[in-house]
Amino acid sequence: MKIGLVTYAPEKVAGYEIHVYYSKWADGQVFPAAKSMQNDVTCFVDAKVIREDPTIAAISKEGPALRKNRRFNMPFDYVCPTNPQYRQKILDYVDTLSSGNVEGVTLNLYHFPEQEFCVCPRCVELWRKSGLNWTNWRAKTITDFLTEAKSHVKGTFAVEMFPDPLMAKERFGIDFEAIADLVDYFHVPLSSRDYFTNYWVDLLTRDFLKMLKKPVVVELSGEMLTDEKTDALLKTVAYLSRHNLMGTLLLVHDSENAKQIARYAVRNGEFRDWLTKNDFSEMNRIVDEWAKLYAK
Ligand SMILES: [Zn+2]
Repeated sequence: MKIGLVTYAPEKVAGYEIHVYYSKWADGQVFPAAKSMQNDVTCFVDAKVIREDPTIAAISKEGPALRKNRRFNMPFDYVCPTNPQYRQKILDYVDTLSSGNVEGVTLNLYHFPEQEFCVCPRCVELWRKSGLNWTNWRAKTITDFLTEAKSHVKGTFAVEMFPDPLMAKERFGIDFEAIADLVDYFHVPLSSRDYFTNYWVDLLTRDFLKMLKKPVVVELSGEMLTDEKTDALLKTVAYLSRHNLMGTLLLVHDSENAKQIARYAVRNGEFRDWLTKNDFSEMNRIVDEWAKLYAK
């Protein structure tokens, strides 16, 4: 299992083998390509664009896909995925990244916000013309977008997902079977403020590994750490290292944050004894590599 980072800083950190850089954020901020890194693009979530033009938001019979709409539990503000001008904007940005010597592109939030979306006049018209049922039309719409986006990507192509292994197609239009043909790997974010309770990380990892027909990386949150939280995070990574994952990624603010995690692991004799005693050989290998870089 490789160890990697998802980061807001466009720089690689020694001791980490996969580097994902957030180049387009959910709040609408857009940054230049990070060279030799996997650049992560938030697609149909863009708070800034929706503030400027609220009619661009995805819509349901119960109102728009906005955080302030309490009919739903929306983590973000969502744009309608069939808006042609907005789609073009995303594809143009992917072109810019691809001409910037990046390792590849990961797409995030490229799907419908929920099952009830989108019933704007354009979506309803497209659905009627398709002759498909609601679920299949929405899934085809998303798969077609990913197919088009892939043709703009130079290098490694990956997608994130909302981590629902059972209802992703009905809820979001995410058809894992169809998408597996397009991507080099799947990126499963299992974000949390801490991992003191972590059975659900193993549970979802097993489900996704069984279901997804391409390599899988799992992302855990590594920001704002105390010693106790770092200990729980590293033990959760150790358990993940027993699975057949391509990698585990740690979400960090910046490079210093990533180094802090490595240093904590290297200096914590109790943790390293725990790894050895319980035969976490793959995690031991990672910490041994960190020890060469972060012993002091
Ligand atoms: Zn729509």
